[in-house]
Amino acid sequence: MTSELTTSSTTPANTFAELGLISPLLARLTELEYQQPTPIQAQAIPSVLAGRDLIGGANTGSGKTATFALPLLQQLSKQPGVVKSSASKGTHSSKGNYVAGLILVPTRELAKQVADSIKSYAVHFNGAIKTVAVFGGVSVNTQMLALRGGTDILVATPGRLLDLISSNAIKLDRVQTLVLDEADRMLSLGFTEELAALLALLPKKKQTLLFSATFPEQVQTLTQELLNNPVEIQLQSADSSTLVQRVFTVNKGEKTALLEHLIKQHKWRQTLVFVNARNHCEHLAEKLAKRDITAEVFHGDKGQGERTRVLEGFKAGEIDVLIATDIAARGLDIEKLPVVINFNLPRSPSDYMHRIGRSGRAGEVGLAISLIDYEDYHHFKVIEKKNKIRLEREQVEGFEVDEEITAELLEAMKPVAAPEGSGKKKRKKKKSVNADIWAGYTKPE
Ligand code: AMP
Repeated sequence: MTSELTTSSTTPANTFAELGLISPLLARLTELEYQQPTPIQAQAIPSVLAGRDLIGGANTGSGKTATFALPLLQQLSKQPGVVKSSASKGTHSSKGNYVAGLILVPTRELAKQVADSIKSYAVHFNGAIKTVAVFGGVSVNTQMLALRGGTDILVATPGRLLDLISSNAIKLDRVQTLVLDEADRMLSLGFTEELAALLALLPKKKQTLLFSATFPEQVQTLTQELLNNPVEIQLQSADSSTLVQRVFTVNKGEKTALLEHLIKQHKWRQTLVFVNARNHCEHLAEKLAKRDITAEVFHGDKGQGERTRVLEGFKAGEIDVLIATDIAARGLDIEKLPVVINFNLPRSPSDYMHRIGRSGRAGEVGLAISLIDYEDYHHFKVIEKKNKIRLEREQVEGFEVDEEITAELLEAMKPVAAPEGSGKKKRKKKKSVNADIWAGYTKPE
């Protein structure tokens, strides 16, 4: 984060009503059991409702989607024809191929997630506000159909949006509010040119809200060019480190290949990989060695001399990959690291925080990545819930999850109800079914 960002002087409100939100939204927030605004919501929503531009320094998990979605819905609901028409047919305000609120996001997962959140916040507008998500990697035709007659809110990844504009499925000249979500990721994923092309198509007069976890030079340039006297809200202090948490879903049996891919692609140095057992450390190190990655292990069975040697090598940057168990890692006396990877999830949610806290050197962006296969999905939700975080599930190109097989496997993991009248319901994991489905499918590690 740069020191150019200052904290807003707004006095944070304790309730959503105090923020000035209208009753259809307040009713929904009560249903969703949002008891009070998160810090960014409390600080930003009044300014956004007042039509100000905004720079928000916040991570996923801070409640930033509602920060822009709630005021956007409120503003659109007050325009003639939006809420009124809901009582009759649930038609929406935009006419033709126009969009009123445009939200640009870096990934398709985020596009879906943000659109789902907006639709959920808007349920008491009874269909009056139309929200559509468009993103690459799927057929464009369904998205064109969805955009017929325009949309009030469009959540889009930049590349697909440009395609839709060039085929006249949508126009940007009536955009009133632009949201750039995860601006840093958008730029780091190579969307700079697409963004420039899109921004050129937008009207000059509009409200712009920009959210970013970090503020590298490219993002600063963008904010200077795009925002008009913005309110600046920074949730991290200027010199603290920033930790980005990511979760990659992967097919069972493909974690090692994905780990290899990530390490080689990003040329990571000083990567700390967590596994759950001592023998897993050795096992994974051997598998990586076969893939030309030299890794050292750090666990409770190692003698003190060996531990010291490994640690010194890792600290000095001579060892790129260190595979460790939680118990050994607790005693690790090392500076914070650029990358920490959960190859296996920790059993305890508090160990998750402990592990990821190993990353994020002061003033630098730290990265904590969890690799999860279907067997981890449920446990990862528990970790999120306990730690009050919610992370977007991402997939790495070339390692996409087979959705069909995964759905079958998840179904097979569900507890099986005992026959009626036989007393207690039994929890049963159909292990053999899982094994059958994967047989012949998984790539050998
Ligand atoms: P986000 O940072 O927008 O991805 O939000 C993270 C998670 O927090 C989502 O699951 C939201 O539904 C939830 N959330 C957002 N705001 C609140 C709130 N004020 N109270 C409780 N949960 C919230």
